[in-house]
Amino acid sequence: MSGDAGNLDELWAKIVQRLRPDIGESAVRSWLLPLAAQEIKSATLFIACPTRFMKDWVAGHYLDRLIIAFKAEMPSAKGVELVVAPVAKINMEKAPVLTAPVASENNNAEAIGAQLDPRLTFSRFVVGKPNEFAYAAARRVADLASGPAFNPLFIYGGVGLGKTHLMHAIGWEIAEKYPSRNVIYTSAEKFMYRFVRALRYQDIMSFKEQFRSVDVLMIDDVQFIGGKESTQEEFFHTFNSLMDQGRQIVISADKPPSELPGMEDRLKSRLGCGLVADIHATDYELRLGILQAKAEDMGCEVPPKVMEFLAYKITSNVRELEGALRRVVAHAQLVGRSINIDTTQEVLRDLLRANERKLTIEDIQKKVAEYFNIRVADIYSDRRMRQITRPRQVAMFLSKRLTPASLPEIGRKFGGKDHTTVIHAVKKIEELCGQDPAFAEDVRLLQKMLEG
Ligand code: ADP
Ligand code: MG
Repeated sequence: MSGDAGNLDELWAKIVQRLRPDIGESAVRSWLLPLAAQEIKSATLFIACPTRFMKDWVAGHYLDRLIIAFKAEMPSAKGVELVVAPVAKINMEKAPVLTAPVASENNNAEAIGAQLDPRLTFSRFVVGKPNEFAYAAARRVADLASGPAFNPLFIYGGVGLGKTHLMHAIGWEIAEKYPSRNVIYTSAEKFMYRFVRALRYQDIMSFKEQFRSVDVLMIDDVQFIGGKESTQEEFFHTFNSLMDQGRQIVISADKPPSELPGMEDRLKSRLGCGLVADIHATDYELRLGILQAKAEDMGCEVPPKVMEFLAYKITSNVRELEGALRRVVAHAQLVGRSINIDTTQEVLRDLLRANERKLTIEDIQKKVAEYFNIRVADIYSDRRMRQITRPRQVAMFLSKRLTPASLPEIGRKFGGKDHTTVIHAVKKIEELCGQDPAFAEDVRLLQKMLEG
């Protein structure tokens, strides 16, 4: 038996309706509204999921309930089967979209809060192994009805892995579900800036006042206040007073609390006393899931092979992955041709190269030392004889050329040398390569060996 499309939509709406009180509006919006009933075959309902991640998530969390709801609607029902398939856009549009960027409902607090980016919602956050813990924690925190979950929630992870996204998502979720609650999201940098200004204008009372009525305070990139003592002091007091009142606090940083440089011990221990959730580097599956979701968002057909290629090659972080996809799509639209592996490789040549070479400065030092038959220790020593300075300069030159490291970083890796020393080395090697073909050949050969 197979219903027509209208009936299927109706059936799906009824099933969703049955799950609604049980799983809550936001889960419905994030996980069920983007799906569609596809067909009924042998008393089994096939549900189309736009991405594999959605499919896996829904299967893991709601399959039992879906089966029960389906049986309630159709007594002869056997089961539910989730499949990955494109879902007509109309279904996506059923999901309410928040457009007004609300940072805070409270005028008082608006001064310190930052605007929320409408793209950064839970429904647009793709969940996979590396981030599922942080995601679940963020969702729990946004569910104010169940009371403060863990306080504070401390999310940490490398750059571009979704920390800010999760915080904005918490903000949106609360703004939507509990519009009377007062949520402040701000970067630690902005917090400091406001604090310093309040000090200068002797306005510290009203600065403090702004936090009194806050229900949820979110401070992004807290590592920024490392080494800034009076800001830390003020932050510590704000933090404690909100904690004492049972208000929810969410913090992000690039490192766990205990490893934050220049942070007072008492603050470190307070930051780590709730739940500490880390976001790990992406894995292949998550990257693929994110690409699928973003391609869909852009309303663009990207061949699976190209997405697999990108997920395999661009491993640095989500921001870069997103940027890569956008470039590929923009290029295709510009030249009016379809996307394929060749054009992708062409368009992203520089990016692919940067991601491909996981070459470190240490690798380079080792190889260069080996090649010129000196010790690695000599390379980062201060020894000044020619047999050593030349290879050292070659290693600096290759570090600049083959790694994304900055000049000061390279200098540091060579026994704490100044960046001007690195500049000098690079110039010197370029010059020598122009004058001495045999030397140029040495350098070329080394580079080739290093590039593998
Ligand atoms: P961070 O604050 O950790 O440096 P962001 O939250 O700014 O990283 O994320 C960088 C970009 O990658 C943003 O555009 C964000 O929407 C996107 N992004 C990160 N993780 C995900 C994810 N799991 N699903 C979808 N988009 C993501
Ligand atoms: Mg961020």
